[in-house]
Amino acid sequence: MPLIGVLAMQGAFAEHVRALEKAGARTRLVRTREDLEGLDGIVLPGGESTTMTMLMERVGLLEPLRDAIGGGLPTLATCAGMIVLAREIADGMGDQRGLGLLDIAVRRNGYGRQVDSFEAPLQIAGMDGKTFPGVFIRAPLVERTGDVEVVAEHDGHPVAVRHGRITALGFHPELSGDLRLHREFVRLASGSR
Ligand code: GLN
Repeated sequence: MPLIGVLAMQGAFAEHVRALEKAGARTRLVRTREDLEGLDGIVLPGGESTTMTMLMERVGLLEPLRDAIGGGLPTLATCAGMIVLAREIADGMGDQRGLGLLDIAVRRNGYGRQVDSFEAPLQIAGMDGKTFPGVFIRAPLVERTGDVEVVAEHDGHPVAVRHGRITALGFHPELSGDLRLHREFVRLASGSR
């Protein structure tokens, strides 16, 4: 069984742990740089990207995490996690900067107040069977994509992108009750050993 780390600074990490374990992985909460050692993959959960980044800087995790993901560690990022990975962040707090590893530009809370949270069926490239229930909660709007593959769109905007071993989602698969994306990630992480 692969060992998947779940960044546990803040946010929806417990739900990812449950989904990953159901999908056949062992998990470890990641709170320090030492926790990165020996992982087969990592999940960057939803929450508040500003708080998450600030806490990572404080405990000295931001740079080691950038090295690990940049070095090819399989990564699944959801919502705030997608923001943390993005190269450009609009409507961030002050000069909010994250890992800058994914060639996309996102606008925080870009779907606006009226549609603060919504659910939409998503057609995900390469996924068989029915559509995936996309749960969006104050989701980032992807405004530009560069060197990434868009694997799902909603309303003409990318909501799932991939680059190498990184998958970033604007929605919350851990809250959808559908394990297909977690299973796929666990498979990818198993292959990386
Ligand atoms: N709006 C949050 C942020 O900017 C993301 C919301 C979420 O992860 N559900 O970090």
